[in-house]
Amino acid sequence: MELKGKTAIVTGSNSGIGLGIARELAKAGADVVLNSFTDNDEDHALAREIAAEHGVEARYIKADLSKGDEARALIEKAGRCDILVNNAGIQHVAAIEKFPTEKWDAIIAINLTSAFHTTAAALPMMREAGWGRIVNVASAHGLTASPYKSAYVAAKHGIVGLSKTVALETAREPITCNAVCPGYVLTPLVESQIPDTMKEYDMDRDEVIEKVLLARQPSKDFVTVEQLGGTCVFLCTDAAAQITGTAISVDGGWTAL
Ligand code: NAD
Repeated sequence: MELKGKTAIVTGSNSGIGLGIARELAKAGADVVLNSFTDNDEDHALAREIAAEHGVEARYIKADLSKGDEARALIEKAGRCDILVNNAGIQHVAAIEKFPTEKWDAIIAINLTSAFHTTAAALPMMREAGWGRIVNVASAHGLTASPYKSAYVAAKHGIVGLSKTVALETAREPITCNAVCPGYVLTPLVESQIPDTMKEYDMDRDEVIEKVLLARQPSKDFVTVEQLGGTCVFLCTDAAAQITGTAISVDGGWTAL
């Protein structure tokens, strides 16, 4: 229970990687704040389930992270933030000349700009507490590119750069900021891009998984949300106190190619 007494805010955590990270942080003893843009009974039930399972405090706070004021209000409403995991993200797959402007704007707002707002709001709380950890969930697409993902690749490269800058601005303090760069994880976000990719490449589902999604993942296995949660927990330990400004790949060898 090495994170007992810490409060972790995980954005975009009512499903997929964010939920997996929140569960692992709670397992390590942290109180957790879940978030998404919905406000359903199921969202609050997830928080109650995590609290009961791990004996921590867990809350769900609605905030639409495409809006800067809501991103900042999320941190203010939580009232405390020792660990900030900027995870919320969306995807859209299209050739650049057909890429809808509103999709570009939404991806940049949710996948990149929201982290600017939450970080700016959380840093004073971390300084007050004398300790802080910021983990930005980027992607292998923060380090390499793929066709048809212009906004996503731009946003993910952007968040790797933001992580480095925040690391330098906090380098003399007991605060670290890093990017974690997953390869493919089979979450709703990946599921949702399979139909478009099937159309782009004229392939069936199995072919898309093998020849497109895992084509560049030498392990030929999806990364799991538990592995990503474990990476976040490690970044919160004393062993990781000097790890700051890095992009940590959890990608089955993708970026080694
Ligand atoms: P997901 O769709 O399961 O989860 C995305 C989360 O973001 C959800 O909780 C969703 O509600 C939330 N979200 C979306 N729009 C939001 C908004 N406007 N305001 C607040 N929350 C919002 O997807 P995931 O695969 O778990 O992705 C999580 C993160 O991991 C993303 O940043 C994604 O880019 C990144 N990532 C995913 C993979 C993968 O293979 N799944 C690989 C690399 C990086």
